[in-house]
Amino acid sequence: MRVVHETTPFPFLELPAELRDLVYNHLIQDPSYPPSKSPPRVLSSFGWLLPQHQAPSDSNWIMLANRQVYSEYMDILCKKSAFTLTVDQINQKEHDLWPIRQETLRSIRKCDLRIITTSSMLGAVNPHLMPHNWPIRDKICDSLQGMEKIEDLNLHVRAIGDPLWNPLWIWYHASQAFKDAGKLRFRSITFSLDSWSPGENHLARNNEGRWEWRCSADHFVATDPGQWQATNIREFCSMLYGECQACRGPK
Ligand SMILES: [Zn+2]
Repeated sequence: MRVVHETTPFPFLELPAELRDLVYNHLIQDPSYPPSKSPPRVLSSFGWLLPQHQAPSDSNWIMLANRQVYSEYMDILCKKSAFTLTVDQINQKEHDLWPIRQETLRSIRKCDLRIITTSSMLGAVNPHLMPHNWPIRDKICDSLQGMEKIEDLNLHVRAIGDPLWNPLWIWYHASQAFKDAGKLRFRSITFSLDSWSPGENHLARNNEGRWEWRCSADHFVATDPGQWQATNIREFCSMLYGECQACRGPK
């Protein structure tokens, strides 16, 4: 005998808006671009916001329900979730680094920019002859400048070294390029080699908005000598590997 499960539609849109928001809060997933698999082509303008697996019960998929749900959900998503944009040697050549709607970009509160960079992306053969302007930096700044409500913007630099370039140089050039990125105000700059977990000290802004160096446990290590302009590579290395007095503890 066939068992028929009767389903009664639930009048979700008749719930008070606060209750709908509570439901949305349980569903949000942090969006990351580019997706690990290509999104369905019909959804290309925001398909990357969707999870990589098909139609699970809890996820960003709810935004496809209808126009009202989409706009309510996007509002919560932009307020509560952390967006990630990764730029690497493949997608840095794309005309549009981040195909995101301007209205979405405008509303994002937290965003992590991840740069996986090689020496060729920095545009110099010799690390000592790095040009002053870095076209990829300008392109990234252009892509992100619409973020009007951003509160928490962080940069992670993952270096891919090569025989000529010690990863130090890559971290150095990338961080100096973004320390003062005009309208884009990064809160921290972290460095890593082959994972996203920061290995060494990192740059963070203090309460006055000045750059300082902190250990992985977020203790103050040193004030960045060049607050708004470039430090030199020697200063950079000593800060990057500076010992944290708090972590070392009393002798
Ligand atoms: Zn420490």
